[in-house]
Amino acid sequence: MISGQIVNKKATHRKFSSRRKKLVDQIRKKGIKDQRVLKAIQETPRHIFVDTALENRAYEDSALPIGSGQTISQPYTVAAQTELLEVEKGDKILEIGTGSGYQSAILCHMGADVYSVERHEALYHKAREILQELGYRPRLKYGDGTLGWSAYSPYDGIVVTAGAPVVPEELIQQLNIGGVLIVPVGDQEVQTMTRIRRVSEDEYEEEQLKQFKFVPLIGEKGWE
Ligand code: SAM
Repeated sequence: MISGQIVNKKATHRKFSSRRKKLVDQIRKKGIKDQRVLKAIQETPRHIFVDTALENRAYEDSALPIGSGQTISQPYTVAAQTELLEVEKGDKILEIGTGSGYQSAILCHMGADVYSVERHEALYHKAREILQELGYRPRLKYGDGTLGWSAYSPYDGIVVTAGAPVVPEELIQQLNIGGVLIVPVGDQEVQTMTRIRRVSEDEYEEEQLKQFKFVPLIGEKGWE
């Protein structure tokens, strides 16, 4: 049903290329250094992940509505979380909060083996269709991501794209040794980006990084 629209939007891919370059310059100035992340943002058509009415704003460095009361994250935020993941080709990455599918596309573009969970059924279906149409093949699930996705664990990296009240224990347990969990933790107004690295079977290192503002992570181990 929406694939016709996607085909039309794909035709506009080149039209937006210079806007994408400006966005990449902005993100670089804000401190993103990983060339692979910047390249993925330069080459991924963000306008395809938003409604046609918002297409002209797709390359502003801002979050935009995607329906079901949710947002596609600000490009700088996507870049910052992706940089913290230290993605290598072939890494197995779990994303909590598929939303529009844009972050999944960035990770697939970087050669990761991507798993992603979304709690809104309508968003899950829409993201699935767009990602398929663009040729990306992440494994997607409709459900509560606060519990992770144990069937495919362990993961080299886990990224939570919604704000959590506490670090969900299940996610830590689904990390590979050497793997990292990137999760914004705080109240519903502001969250601190937190990176947890599993250094051995039962040892973890935790770092508190910059502050961000995300929509809430809702579920059994999130907000009610
Ligand atoms: N990564 C998304 C993107 O690229 O568009 C960002 C989406 S938005 C900032 C966060 C998403 O997390 C929303 O779609 C929301 O429905 C989802 N979410 C919140 N709690 C969740 C949970 N427990 N499990 C899975 N998804 C959840």
